Amino acid sequence: MSISEFELIDRYFRRRGARRNDVVIGIGDDGAVLRPRPGHELVLVTDTIVGGVHFPAMMSAGDVGYRALAVNLSDLAAMGAEPAWCSLALTLPQADETWLQGFADGLLELAERFDMELVGGDTTRGPLTVTVTAHGWVPAGQALRRAGAGTGDGVYVSGCLGDAAAGLRVVMGESTCDAESGSALTRRFLRPEPRVALGQFLRGVASSAIDVSDGLAADLRHVLEASARGAEVHLARLPISAPLRACEHGESAIERALGGGDDYELCFTVPPGRESTLGDWLAEDGVPLTRIGTVVERPGLRFVDAGDVVVDRHISGYAHF
Ligand code: ADP
Ligand code: MG
Repeated sequence: MSISEFELIDRYFRRRGARRNDVVIGIGDDGAVLRPRPGHELVLVTDTIVGGVHFPAMMSAGDVGYRALAVNLSDLAAMGAEPAWCSLALTLPQADETWLQGFADGLLELAERFDMELVGGDTTRGPLTVTVTAHGWVPAGQALRRAGAGTGDGVYVSGCLGDAAAGLRVVMGESTCDAESGSALTRRFLRPEPRVALGQFLRGVASSAIDVSDGLAADLRHVLEASARGAEVHLARLPISAPLRACEHGESAIERALGGGDDYELCFTVPPGRESTLGDWLAEDGVPLTRIGTVVERPGLRFVDAGDVVVDRHISGYAHF
């Protein structure tokens, strides 16, 4: 590398982004020293993204940095956690300073927005791989889980589904789309908004939660398996954005919404007695919540059409292997 590892860390990662008063020692020693919060439990998540596998090679450095942290913030959101600290294991083919500047800006601007401090990491040479580990707080006993959905609970999703998968097609030049819709979808793919505030709001409200990273069908199935329940989802109720409608017609928009990954919305279940609480959220925040179905006793995920008829559909989510 043209600059040393130490210069690199100092120049791009140290003393940047949010500073927190629960960080006793941050970047620069052999380990970070962090102060726990009384009455809380620590949630730890980690996610790796690999160049050419998890993002197209032409993605900008800023978008890669943003994504590496955003996917972790989304996991914290799905646990109902308040973000606190993160560490970064960075493997680079070469120390390209323009790339590093963009990457660090993308990552640290997002960290700052969520008051998260980068407290350590590791830097090595090799094929582009970015691993972020993130930590967040939940009041003891209040973490949201995949297990817990009960028969009769409403199944909800935040925002709109399928935009990111359609946006990836636009980025890859596989979609013919008007410029305005195309750029809205591209932005949803490149800069997913982790639903951190919603996750915290759902503590004590949702009976289960997951973030939608591999596609709604695949991720909701994880919730149902963990909860030993099934669900009926109404295809007509899936939240599909205007840009997605403009770019992909009928069936293919529904395919995108059910099978497309990378949306990073939250899917969660709410017992009937608590559904009215969701009104408080709608009043405060622009992100809509949509009730798309109901948890049922019989295991399995079933889709129903406008006439309540079960439709046969095989949806496969993103498979890593
Ligand atoms: P060691 O040789 O003890 O493993 P390093 O030289 O790898 O230490 O790291 C020195 C300091 O810089 C440590 O505090 C480490 O956590 C931090 N660090 C290394 N790489 C990164 C990175 N990519 N992002 C943030 N901090 C990093
Ligand atoms: Mg050391």
